[in-house]
Amino acid sequence: MSPFPRRPTVTVPVGSVPIGSEHPVVVQSMTNTDTRDVHGTAAQVAALHRAGSEIVRITVNDEAAAEAVPEIARILEDHGLDVPLVGDFHYNGHQLLRRVPRAAAALAKYRINPGNVGVGVRHDENFREIVRIAAEHDVPVRIGVNWGSLDPDLLARRMDANARSDDPADAHEVTIRAMVESAIRSAEMAEEAGLAHDRIVLSAKVSRVPDMWDVYRRLAAACDLPLHLGLTEAGMGVKGTVASTAGLAPLLADGIGDTIRVSLTPDPGAPREREVEIAQEVLAALDVRRFAPSVTACPGCGRTTSTLFQELARDVDAYLKERMPRWRERYPGVERMNVAVMGCVVNGPGESKHADIGISLPGTGERPRAPVYQDGAHVETLSGDGAEIAAAFTERVDRYVRTRYGGGADD
Ligand code: SF4
Repeated sequence: MSPFPRRPTVTVPVGSVPIGSEHPVVVQSMTNTDTRDVHGTAAQVAALHRAGSEIVRITVNDEAAAEAVPEIARILEDHGLDVPLVGDFHYNGHQLLRRVPRAAAALAKYRINPGNVGVGVRHDENFREIVRIAAEHDVPVRIGVNWGSLDPDLLARRMDANARSDDPADAHEVTIRAMVESAIRSAEMAEEAGLAHDRIVLSAKVSRVPDMWDVYRRLAAACDLPLHLGLTEAGMGVKGTVASTAGLAPLLADGIGDTIRVSLTPDPGAPREREVEIAQEVLAALDVRRFAPSVTACPGCGRTTSTLFQELARDVDAYLKERMPRWRERYPGVERMNVAVMGCVVNGPGESKHADIGISLPGTGERPRAPVYQDGAHVETLSGDGAEIAAAFTERVDRYVRTRYGGGADD
């Protein structure tokens, strides 16, 4: 149970995944393959989905990409993967969805950016055309406003009006207001064009963290639609991870956000799944949602001159993640288990007692013995070299999981 009450919203079904309302915050990701590469894109969608992405977005930028969509969906289905695909449309979505109805039917959601569906009268007509197609297929739409591609007509009108006002705001404030207005007006226009209220999701992406808090808080106050959270581009590596976490955490703690994406720029050749892992870790750290047991490990200090506890913490974490696909089915609730791997007697026994199961390894100069605690009580003391202690501890974790979450059934 999340410690943060969620803001009330409607529920929007995206394929087999409901988002909004009381449903868990959903992790999304996006491919970076050429969608025309059917097998490459299906493989990346599968990898992202297996890593934990519950919805995956793919670029649909031309007719060949649209033609590829039903093929990608078929390959995923053949592999037994029930992953809702979201089509990402810019500029020509109204044409592609009409020309390739098989793509329109295969997608579980369309993402459109009201800033680039055309200008003037064409803007409204193109936008309505996408919405009509969505309504025909009963497919939800995410209206994704973006700071970098905000509706230029709307922004120009608001800037002009602001310049004429007696108390003009700065350009930054006008832009934030225009983003919120663009999202809310687009949602109203979508409903007028025939899309049901509970088939609309909103997002308003920016690249600065404080702006993200600001725009989403205003959006949350202005509507009851589910919100998709993310920075438009978080950046690379540590910066991207920190920026995403800083952006998401205060909003999620305010109950704002129904789906999230970490828009990490991957290092060349690095796996795309990293963004999924970070999104899950953010939700887990906030206790909004857990996906795997958590491992509490101390940072180590001068009392731990060996790498034993670092290696054990890493190995236990990897072991738990490796077991999770099977455990998830057999041992409901195991994802909320807390495991402690601590480096010495100072905080080791205390932290281990707070965990469901924990081990306090010997620090430098301590006797080479490692007490193990279960449900707050000391149950045994392990000894031997690092490999022996690791094997004995993971075996005990296995037994604990079977007993606590499976009534003693064999794995
Ligand atoms: S538990 Fe021990 S080894 Fe770990 S940080 Fe604290 S004092 Fe250092």
